[in-house]
Amino acid sequence: MVTVLDRNIRPEVEVVTPPVARGEFVVPRPGTGAAAKKFGVLPMPKLEWNAEVERETAHLYEKVKAVIPPVEWPFHAPYVHAINKLKKQRNAVLLAHNYQTPEIYNCVADFVGDSLQLAKEAAKSKADIIIQGGVHFMAETSKLLNPNKTVLIPDLRAGCSLAQSITGEDVRLLRERYPGVPVVTYVNTSADVKAESDICCTSSNAVQVVESFGTDRVICIPDEFLARWVATQTKVKIIAWKGHCEVHERFTGEELRRYREADPTVQILAHPECPPDVIAEADFTGSTSGILNYVKTKKPKRVVMVTECSMADNVQAEAPNTEFIRPCNLCPHMKRITLPKILDSLVYLREEVEIDPAVAAKARRAVERMIHLKS
Ligand code: SF4
Repeated sequence: MVTVLDRNIRPEVEVVTPPVARGEFVVPRPGTGAAAKKFGVLPMPKLEWNAEVERETAHLYEKVKAVIPPVEWPFHAPYVHAINKLKKQRNAVLLAHNYQTPEIYNCVADFVGDSLQLAKEAAKSKADIIIQGGVHFMAETSKLLNPNKTVLIPDLRAGCSLAQSITGEDVRLLRERYPGVPVVTYVNTSADVKAESDICCTSSNAVQVVESFGTDRVICIPDEFLARWVATQTKVKIIAWKGHCEVHERFTGEELRRYREADPTVQILAHPECPPDVIAEADFTGSTSGILNYVKTKKPKRVVMVTECSMADNVQAEAPNTEFIRPCNLCPHMKRITLPKILDSLVYLREEVEIDPAVAAKARRAVERMIHLKS
């Protein structure tokens, strides 16, 4: 166990090192095929670039032309066309996280946003089927909030370094070590971990959730950097876990200082999953939705987006007058989701996301407790 003080030597952040080195993401077992039995498998549509496809996808290309060159569109458009038709036929909705590629985010998604926004939007829809454009923990969150809908993820191997940094058993050990201390868990975790937690949080409400208990100490897991950032915003003592997002941990304060030196007017926007020296350089620190709102409302002339690459592409499509500098890192897990795999999901209804009902009931309680928290 390491005890560290934050840069202002204010609240103490105690970082717990995982007892065992975490391995590769364990690919979850595929579902039972119940969805294919219930709704039936469809024939694979023809995928041709022709006049009809060009005409019917022209309005969608308008949305992405700043980030997808014309020469690439004939490769995407037949998939976009087929997916949008099949979604209607299947009564399905596609949820796309902000880190999905522009052709998914702008051209086939029904709802876009962060993982929690997506799951909540899907719950309001009358769709029978949810396709998750995102990683596995997001699909689990969608299943938790939509237990009677079929939830599909186009690639079961879409994991997450943060989610795989901790298990339900680790949380039970933490509770033994810190009896009575409430456990706040970031939504970027498996259903098993959520099930062992008192409440979930997102990067936008983490401070409010931590303070909601009125205790002097809170366990805030698994993202060490998010926990450290929370500790700078509250007097509550934070006990953190040494889990990191492999995308955001690679940024450094030094590279951001170089951008600032080159242009002192540039605005630096960072996600709280970034290390503390990166956040110290940022003009704004917030969730993906917070960053998007900042760009839309403040309309900065030039920004450095310190987050996943596709996020900058997607914000660029919505804020064409802002110039984006992108010291971006790709999330390899998010990029496992592609148009061809989404089409396969719709045709063959795979891969189904299933959660043990006993685990789901406890995990849902932690998520709903956060949703119903009064602001
Ligand atoms: S960007 Fe980071 S937190 Fe998000 S899915 Fe990828 S590894 Fe996980």
